Amino acid sequence: MSLDGATTPAAGDGRPDPAGGSQSGHANGSINGAGQQNGVIAPPPTYLTHRLRLNPNSDHRPDNYEDLELDFSPMVFSSLERYLPPNLLLQPREVKVNYMREILVRYYPESERVRIQKHREYRQKIISNYQRLHRELYTMHASNFFVPSFLKAINENTEQGFRNIMSEPSPGVFTFEMLQPRFCEMLLAEVENFEKWVHETKFRIMRPNTMNKYGAVLDDFGMETMLDKLMEDFIRPISKIFFAEVGGSTLDAHHGFVLEYGMDRDVDLGFHVDDSEVTLNVCLGKQFSGGELFFRGVRCEKHVNTETQSEEIFDYSHLPGRAVLHRGRHRHGARATTSGNRINLLLWCRSSVFRELRKYQKDFSSWCTECQREKKERQRQSVAATKLELLRREGQAAT
Ligand SMILES: [Zn+2]
Repeated sequence: MSLDGATTPAAGDGRPDPAGGSQSGHANGSINGAGQQNGVIAPPPTYLTHRLRLNPNSDHRPDNYEDLELDFSPMVFSSLERYLPPNLLLQPREVKVNYMREILVRYYPESERVRIQKHREYRQKIISNYQRLHRELYTMHASNFFVPSFLKAINENTEQGFRNIMSEPSPGVFTFEMLQPRFCEMLLAEVENFEKWVHETKFRIMRPNTMNKYGAVLDDFGMETMLDKLMEDFIRPISKIFFAEVGGSTLDAHHGFVLEYGMDRDVDLGFHVDDSEVTLNVCLGKQFSGGELFFRGVRCEKHVNTETQSEEIFDYSHLPGRAVLHRGRHRHGARATTSGNRINLLLWCRSSVFRELRKYQKDFSSWCTECQREKKERQRQSVAATKLELLRREGQAAT
């Protein structure tokens, strides 16, 4: 294995601490009896299969679910709706909601929903007590946040437009100028202010994931709505083009946080995969040396520990304001930050539709380099066997 001295990745590593997603609402909220999951009321027989189509109905305009009290984010319902069986699309909204909720409930077990609800309450407690430093950070102000080249590409919304501002130094790793220096400074100051408040009030905060001892979850102190917008309006259009095969066009939940590296912070980060379909990683500053990101190929769960091929080795040095966008299953890690402090903004973007569909599809890991290699090998062997068989028959015919 050529893991460059890094630790071996294990599936499930790097899972966020609490309620990583952004499901909103109430754990026990119900619409028209949809909450009765305990078998008291049997579901209508037509819905027994509760399946989704494999391909979205792109002509269909989904309903808006924002006014309903739901235990999952309204965005999840809107994006899931395109995958409903055709006979359901013309049904009233309540019917569709119940059907989709059945699927989601199966996906998120009761214990998970209780955990999400507890985390909501925890968030609410922070949000109502913490005094914000820069209020303008909490709502999306695109022209103040992003550099003009990035905004132009988003407005154009074409593959060529994105290619013009991005470089792809290694397959599936895209880097581009994204954040204005002023925005980076403000976000750094906000995080510092939040940590000062945490320290002074002795508020117990949850760290972004199981691997980092420093850093803060931005969603926990009020930035959830802004980051949802960032994912929906800026990351999803790019992912739709470059990461379609891992659910890039249906990203509907996120986990947003900052990580802090330095001699007095987390020094490095072991080899791992993210609990995301697509990961945005932007360096916010400040002064530092070291801390390179290293990439080692995209792998599915089954192949996460397989050998790295030489063409998959790629190292990247962070520059403040510059973003890196990659698949969550692209194995990576961060080398030691040898001096100064480095702070990065991370947005793990997820697609519940993609995760649900993966369960039904047999050959769904076309994006895994090792699955591709195995498939090619099988084809090569079958071609070789056919040739051999033809030769044998020719030999028989000649005698
Ligand atoms: Zn694989």
